[in-house]
Amino acid sequence: MQVVIIGGGPSGAAAALMLLDAQIPVTIVEQKPFPRFRPGETLHPGVEPLLTRLGVAHQLQSAGYVRHLGVWSGWGGAMQFVPYGTDTNGPWRGYQAIRADFDQRLLGSARSRGAQILAGKVSGVLLNASHEVAGVMTSDGPVRATYVIDCSGGAHTLARQLHIPIVWYSPQLVARFGYVSGRFDGPTPSICADQYGWTWIAEVAPNCFQWTRVTEAQNRPDSAWRPQGLRGFEGEPSRGADVTWRIAKSLAGPGYFLAGDSAAVLDPSSSHGVLRAIMSGMMAAHLAVRHLCDGADAQDCAAAYQDWLTSWFQHDVETMNSAYRKVNLFGFYG
Ligand SMILES: Cc1cc2nc3c(=O)[nH]c(=O)nc-3n(C[C@H](O)[C@H](O)[C@H](O)COP(=O)(O)OP(=O)(O)OC[C@H]3O[C@@H](n4cnc5c(N)ncnc54)[C@H](O)[C@@H]3O)c2cc1C
Repeated sequence: MQVVIIGGGPSGAAAALMLLDAQIPVTIVEQKPFPRFRPGETLHPGVEPLLTRLGVAHQLQSAGYVRHLGVWSGWGGAMQFVPYGTDTNGPWRGYQAIRADFDQRLLGSARSRGAQILAGKVSGVLLNASHEVAGVMTSDGPVRATYVIDCSGGAHTLARQLHIPIVWYSPQLVARFGYVSGRFDGPTPSICADQYGWTWIAEVAPNCFQWTRVTEAQNRPDSAWRPQGLRGFEGEPSRGADVTWRIAKSLAGPGYFLAGDSAAVLDPSSSHGVLRAIMSGMMAAHLAVRHLCDGADAQDCAAAYQDWLTSWFQHDVETMNSAYRKVNLFGFYG
């Protein structure tokens, strides 16, 4: 019995750590050498209890990432500070995690607890005689598995292989993003909406700023564009990403689960992508363990996962829909 995970990002590492906890052998197939670049530094404070459950909270605490208490929002009105919240232990604080470092730490923990990391690309899926997913084809040959958890990100590797439709919930949205160095005195992290989209600026390391601009495809800024206040700063060329809201129609089935961006993508306005990736990786692994170790019915486990992740996605879609209606953006009019 073994589980194969496609991709070693936050969802893949979280799934692996849960499975290893239950003594289930895990192979992670990852196409890129780590550390590898990935945008998305702002971690919601909600990741902390998840990482504690996975036994890797020290990865966050010892890394020295910049902390913040909330977000400055200029969303349809004057700029105001929106705190994350507070409890009896004090205010909640998010992290500006350098993703290449954060992801490498998580994958390193999975490796040191026994996950086999296979350097290679998944190019196909293996099916058994009953048409259940039974492994993957990699650049190094076939790898058989009792379950495959697809954590390959927005490329939706398994959904494409299994011809699972991807359902869109927004017009085509694109992100342009980059990093600059310099002195910027505006409040950060901040998000501001205008008539064509929104702009995010966060100080991810002292005097190093990550910016993201999200628009509809036809309003995509050119590659030289920078947010006001950061123009003239030194920086690498910007990059682009498709952040159209979308979800795979089937999120689990015979022999497989989809987790993280591979299951569902929303634009990064709420900075929940990594939280959703870690939590869905954990939930997929938990349900695989329920079936493999506790004898739970596989179909029930798949249905429970489908319901759980679909309702989370739908809830976020409604919340974001109403936020965009407030500022008449992207065709979501009030
Ligand atoms: C511009 C931008 C800004 C963002 N900002 C934030 C933010 O501030 N906060 C936040 O929480 N989220 C943010 N996000 C979202 C966040 O980056 C993602 O939600 C998160 O990375 C998803 O994690 P994952 O593990 O599902 O996938 P990924 O992190 O994408 O990891 C997938 C891994 O799978 C590997 N892989 C892919 N295909 C294959 C294959 N065929 N074979 C083998 N390996 C494969 C890839 O190499 C990669 O390492 C942002 C996204 C964008 C585009």
